[in-house]
Amino acid sequence: MKHSVCRDLAPAYIDKLTSEETNEQIEEHMNQCEECRDYLNKMKEDLFLDDENEEKKDKRSIDYFKKVRTKNRKRTLVIVSSLLAIFLALITAYYFVFVNMWLANSGNVETNIQNHDTAVTLSFKAKKDNHYIITTDAKTDEGYTDTIFVYEKRNDFSTPAKLLQDGVNITYTFLDENTLLLDNGKEKKLTDDDRVSIQYKDKTDVIPIKDLYDTE
Ligand SMILES: [Zn+2]
Repeated sequence: MKHSVCRDLAPAYIDKLTSEETNEQIEEHMNQCEECRDYLNKMKEDLFLDDENEEKKDKRSIDYFKKVRTKNRKRTLVIVSSLLAIFLALITAYYFVFVNMWLANSGNVETNIQNHDTAVTLSFKAKKDNHYIITTDAKTDEGYTDTIFVYEKRNDFSTPAKLLQDGVNITYTFLDENTLLLDNGKEKKLTDDDRVSIQYKDKTDVIPIKDLYDTE
C-alpha cells in the first residue's frame, strides 16, 4: 500500500468505516511504516481533542441555558410578589373604605345605665369625634342571656349619615323587680341566671339583669 493511500484512508479507518480487508492492509502497512503510524496516531489525538472541545462547548451552552432559566425564575418571582403586594394593598384599601366597623375598645365607649321608672336603658356612645357605636343584640329566650356586641365605626362614605346616631340605647322594661316585659309582649320571670353580657374588644361585662333594676 502506498503512503498516500494509507493517509487518505486514515480518517475513515479511525472512524471504523473501512472494510475488514482495507483494515488489514492499513495495519500491515503501518507495521512497516513508522511515518504512517505516527501520522495516524497524531490524527487520533487531534480527533480526541476535538471531541473534548465539543463536549466543553456543549457544557458551556448548557450552563448558559441554566443561567437563563434562573433569571426567568427570578423574574417570575418578582412579578408574583408584585402582584401579591398590589392585591394586599387593594384589600387594605377596601377595608379602609368600606369595612371600617370593628369591636370597640371599652375605653372608647361611654357606657351608661339610666333608670326611668320601670325602664332601664343601657346607652352606648362613642367618645371620639366622627366615630359611632353600633350594637348587635343576640337574645336567647331560654335562660335569658342577652349578648350585646359593641362595635365602633368611622364616619365614611358607605353609610348614610342619618343612620349613624349619636348613641345607641337598649331598654329593658320591668314590670317589677323580678319580672321583665319582653319585646314580644311576654313576661319573663327573672332568675339569678338571667344576665346581659356586653362584649367589647378588650373585655366582656356580665351583669345580672336583676341588678339593672336595683341600680336605682
Ligand atoms: Zn507509509
